[in-house]
Amino acid sequence: MNCPNGHGTMPVKTINKEVLFREITVSVPVKQHVCPRCGLEAGTVQETAETQRTVSEAYRKAVGLLTGADIVRFRKKMHLTQPQLAEKTGVGVASIKRWEGGLIQTKSMDKALRNVFWGTAKEDTYTGNRTFFIPRVKLVLVSYENLFNKKLLKPENKMLFSAKYLWYTDMVAYRENGQSMTGATYAALPLGPQLNNYRDLIKDIIAADITSAEPLTSEEQKTIAKITKAFPRKWDVYNAAHREVIWQRRAVGEVIPYSDAGQLTQI
Ligand SMILES: [Zn+2]
Repeated sequence: MNCPNGHGTMPVKTINKEVLFREITVSVPVKQHVCPRCGLEAGTVQETAETQRTVSEAYRKAVGLLTGADIVRFRKKMHLTQPQLAEKTGVGVASIKRWEGGLIQTKSMDKALRNVFWGTAKEDTYTGNRTFFIPRVKLVLVSYENLFNKKLLKPENKMLFSAKYLWYTDMVAYRENGQSMTGATYAALPLGPQLNNYRDLIKDIIAADITSAEPLTSEEQKTIAKITKAFPRKWDVYNAAHREVIWQRRAVGEVIPYSDAGQLTQI
């Protein structure tokens, strides 16, 4: 592509842009040709379509709807073809194709999809579709301690940092796999998201036998590794948690439901 002002070729650049879409501002990477001399920006039809898809994905993530990529991933996990998912959801196959491609599904259609993926009865937004099990909490924390080669779980620090690693672990696992890792419920406390009733739990967590916990799947290990990379120091995870709107907007002591996981911004 050449600059219409006669400056020759315009190289492709990826620029992060804030886009206002349906009253929500999303930050998305946009691929554009930029003239190095006059700064003129232009995109091909394909690039514009790609940007629209990226905005649609970011928007759906921000408002807690399944993204196109989510729909593809969960459909494949269940070994369903597009026509099979359409039949189970009660829609035409064209709808499935459009949602996977970038068209935004309604809230009720989103619910219908979730019912197919996880079942109505199973969806539990306080535990993230898993029964709370204290040894699993310890297993997750021990995994972090091993990766960091540092002790996280200390009775005297009131789980200030360990609870934030746990919170991100459970929320990201729920967002990406539809199930939390520990089944814990989290509340919004003044110093950040915290394990609900942590004072009553901390002794039991420290005393728990991790061999009684279900081992971590490879997907779960990947989630933990990703969080370790994103928040290598305890203050990273502390500060990130405080930047999360899903914590900020809750009243003190209020539960932060797993259904908010799609709105995490720091990871
Ligand atoms: Zn130019």
